[in-house]
Amino acid sequence: MDELRRAVFLDRDGVLNPQAYYAERDELDSPLATEDLRVYEGVAPCLKRLRDAGYLLVVVTNQPAYAKQKTTADDLTAVREAFLARFRELGVEFDLYLSCRHHPQSAIPELRQSCDCRKPMPGMLLRAARELAIDLRSSWIVGDRDTDIWAGEKAGCTTVLVRSLEQGHNGHSNPDYRCGDLAEACELILGARSR
Ligand SMILES: [Mg+2]
Ligand SMILES: [Zn+2]
Repeated sequence: MDELRRAVFLDRDGVLNPQAYYAERDELDSPLATEDLRVYEGVAPCLKRLRDAGYLLVVVTNQPAYAKQKTTADDLTAVREAFLARFRELGVEFDLYLSCRHHPQSAIPELRQSCDCRKPMPGMLLRAARELAIDLRSSWIVGDRDTDIWAGEKAGCTTVLVRSLEQGHNGHSNPDYRCGDLAEACELILGARSR
C-alpha cells in the first residue's frame, strides 16, 4: 500500500496574508485588488518546513467578494495569481489551491448556491483528498475562523485556530488547538509528527 499522504490545509486570508482594511466600509476583508495584498512575514519558511516534513500544502479559501458584488471576478483572479506568484518568489509552491466563490444570497444567479465547498462545508478538503490521495485523519487544517474549524472537523482533520484580527467570526468552535499564528501552528504540527 502506498504511504499515506498527509496535508496541511491552509485558510488564506488571516493565516497566510492579512485581511485588508477598507476605510469606506470600516471593515477588514479579503484583499479585493492586488495592491491590497501582502503576505505575512515569516510564513514562507514555515510552509517550507512543513513541505520538508512531508506535508502537502493545500489552500482552501472562501472568496465570496464577487458573489457579494464587492469586486469583479477578474480582480479575484488577479489577487489569486498575485498571491501564488508572491509565494513562488519566496520558494513555496502549493500542491493545490481551491477557492469557493459562491454565496447563498448572491445576486449573481450562477454564484447563488448553497454549495458544499463553502466552509464550514468540507467540500474543498474532500475534493483535495480525492485528487491528491490525502489521508484526512492524519492531516491538519489551520484557520482563523470557526468556519475553518468546522470544515476541518467534518473532514476528520486535526484543527488549529489561529488568532484573528477580525471580530465576530470565532468563539463558537472547539478547535483541537489554538495558536497565535501560523509559525506557532507549524511548530505544533512538526512536534506532533515527531512524537
Ligand atoms: Mg480566514
Ligand atoms: Zn462553493
